[in-house]
Amino acid sequence: MPASEGHISITNVSKFFGRHKALDNVSLEIPPGTVTVILGPSGSGKSTLLRTINHLERVDEGFIQIDGDYIGYRRKGDKLYELKEREILRQRVNVGYVFQNFNLFPHLTVLENLIEAPVAHRKLSRKAAIERAWELLDVVGLRDKADAWSRHLSGGQQQRIAIARALALRPRVMLFDEPTSALDPELVGEVLDVIKKLARSGTTLVVVTHEIGFAREVADQVVFMVDGKIVEQGSSDAVLNRPAHARTRQFLSKVL
Ligand code: ADP
Ligand code: MG
Repeated sequence: MPASEGHISITNVSKFFGRHKALDNVSLEIPPGTVTVILGPSGSGKSTLLRTINHLERVDEGFIQIDGDYIGYRRKGDKLYELKEREILRQRVNVGYVFQNFNLFPHLTVLENLIEAPVAHRKLSRKAAIERAWELLDVVGLRDKADAWSRHLSGGQQQRIAIARALALRPRVMLFDEPTSALDPELVGEVLDVIKKLARSGTTLVVVTHEIGFAREVADQVVFMVDGKIVEQGSSDAVLNRPAHARTRQFLSKVL
């Protein structure tokens, strides 16, 4: 059954930092329930693109919608008005975000890390949040760590809990910014396995990663960025096996 929630639509988005154009007229459709992998050299605008999807960066041109809602804005007639901070925070609950450096609360246990946000943002009862937390521990395979201090977990386990924590708010889409880059090589697989499981469950995923094997296996769409622009996009087979652009071929020859 096709997913009905989590359609991301990026339309002619540009973003400047001073005079530097970090995003240059980017347009991208991410259908609900699909996996998009974003590739590109350092500084090409991958993180900036993810951050604009969550309105952590404000776009200078263009707009982004999730299921028709303008991110950070409300439309009136043919004009967009920026939302108030409180409304932005409410909107952000729909977007799960996992960073390179799992930012768990070190002074909380694993279970407490998972119930904090739902109780604060979704106004869930503590009991309902705890039930949800146990479900999520099953998803990431860490039921036995519920009472551990998060700082005592391995990097891979911490990142799996960070994923569970992002899922606790029942987001419509999940964004991953190099989720395995900070991990020792032997811990990468367990984190990718959790992301693959989410992919199979029909959650809309956008993943910035250099893990080409992962892209081949799960990506419905691969996007290659250089200098703030999308230079190539298509199926993983097309982009990874038959790249049209020299810049893509050059990049792939380095990461493969
Ligand atoms: P990537 O994630 O692909 O490595 P980024 O999106 O982090 O690239 O950065 C794209 C460009 O924008 C880089 O040149 C970077 O230096 C610049 N940039 C990113 N964030 C900021 C910021 N907050 N202030 C100024 N420049 C920034
Ligand atoms: Mg980045």
